[in-house]
Amino acid sequence: MTEVQRRMAELSNTIYLAGEWVPSVGDRHDVIDPATTERASSYADATGEEVDRAVAAANEAQSIWWQMSALDRANALHEVASKMVERSPRTGECLTREMGKPFRESNWEGGAAASSFRYYAEIARSEAGRVAGPAIAGQLQMVLKEPLGVAVSIVPYNFPMLLAGWQAAAALAAGTAVIIKPSELTPVTLLMWMEAFEHLPRGLVQVLTGGAATGQALVSHPQTHAVAFTGSVRAAQHVAATAAERFKPTLIEASGNDAFIVMPSADIEIAARGAAFAAFLNCGQVCTSAERFYVHESVYEAFVARLAAAAAALRVGSGLEPIDIGPMASKRELLRVERIVARAVEQGARIETGGRRPPHRSTGWFYEPTVLRVDHSMEIMHGECFGPLAPVARVASLDEAIRCANDSDLGLGANIYTNDLAESARAVREIETGIVWVNTPLNDNDAIPFGGRKFTGSGRELGTEGLDQFRRSKMVMIAPDAEPDPEWFPYPDDDAFRT
Ligand code: NAD
Repeated sequence: MTEVQRRMAELSNTIYLAGEWVPSVGDRHDVIDPATTERASSYADATGEEVDRAVAAANEAQSIWWQMSALDRANALHEVASKMVERSPRTGECLTREMGKPFRESNWEGGAAASSFRYYAEIARSEAGRVAGPAIAGQLQMVLKEPLGVAVSIVPYNFPMLLAGWQAAAALAAGTAVIIKPSELTPVTLLMWMEAFEHLPRGLVQVLTGGAATGQALVSHPQTHAVAFTGSVRAAQHVAATAAERFKPTLIEASGNDAFIVMPSADIEIAARGAAFAAFLNCGQVCTSAERFYVHESVYEAFVARLAAAAAALRVGSGLEPIDIGPMASKRELLRVERIVARAVEQGARIETGGRRPPHRSTGWFYEPTVLRVDHSMEIMHGECFGPLAPVARVASLDEAIRCANDSDLGLGANIYTNDLAESARAVREIETGIVWVNTPLNDNDAIPFGGRKFTGSGRELGTEGLDQFRRSKMVMIAPDAEPDPEWFPYPDDDAFRT
């Protein structure tokens, strides 16, 4: 047993409440390591009473946090970032054991989340509103940005530290407290991640484990004030509906089914390598995974051959071994992906490579990176696969590619590989998504807002827009001297209505 496994056992069934890991009295569930199918950890469903205690602690901590100077808050957030980086190999091992991704990727998450804490630590102290040109001479008229209070952050299993980090960094920098509700598949990762937050006021950041009921209890609680949700469309709709009852501001980051377009001017070798990364990273369990490929007919065969070769060369195995692709995060997810492939084949798709569980792995929920020849009419192109699948359709023109890309209820990201400036410009302008990547799949930047359109959701994470998700505006007007206003009573008779 490693030191991290010992710590995972200690943290199992706890919640991080008011600055301490305390055992929850709620019902308990096992988390299964998807590479070994053995128990990795366990978690409890936080009870209603535990939710009440956490919400009270969060409100108390928030008022202490907001009374501190902006500089002290910034320093405390930089300390969070440093601790996160220092502990990243530990939380990374834990994450791999809980949901299977390669250690390189789970270790990366700690550093990537830390980067957003450093970014928000600085931008939040550089402005807290703005001063307007006064509408009344001599007055100070301004908008002050104030924290929303207590935010609920509900996160999925695929990038728990990165996604909770984007939301928590912005919320804390804005002066808002956060209660995080992790996925049922990665509860202990976020409990362990709390080691980086111990120096903050007790209760400012908390983790309450459980399923949809815990999430709903937090969202509907009268003393929580904002909701940030990342996950599936269905769950997002439930969360948004509950939040709407109290008009709580809601940030929704739901599913994607990103298109990946390849045009003849692209370097096909590089485009295929980029495509393999975009489709198979984290076993395809990325909200911005390339989910459907539209490749110009003149380079279709060359692209499919190269992508299939790249897919077949990927090493599939336990995330704690030197591999490229881990297992699917759960058996349910594996079975879902198998059903999608079976349905595609039924509809006429042809498997170029993959399409099965790897024969050399008898245990674990592994699936081979899969390339399929498809057309746009098939179900696999409409909806989110969220697995290691690359369905590739042939298109005759950029017009057709853009039309297919936009033929979707979801609108997170889109990729295009081209060396033609005019084609790049058209893709950027015409594709109906929150993100467009030209020749650089899946990258992000703390300083640029991330999010989607259509059923993918509303609101933005990262950038100054991300900070404003957790602040409200207050209109303030200050007259230096109290003087009578010419608009006051009594009204002059000259202004009265005349017939
Ligand atoms: P999920 O919707 O099943 O769960 C996400 C979280 O919501 C979990 O913590 C879950 O317990 C909670 N939840 C579920 N139902 C709820 C309800 N009714 N009320 C309150 N909370 C509820 O998603 P998942 O399977 O964990 O993650 C995969 C999904 O997340 C994919 O659709 C993916 O595209 C999406 N995702 C989106 C982004 C983005 O930025 N747009 C990023 C990552 C993942």
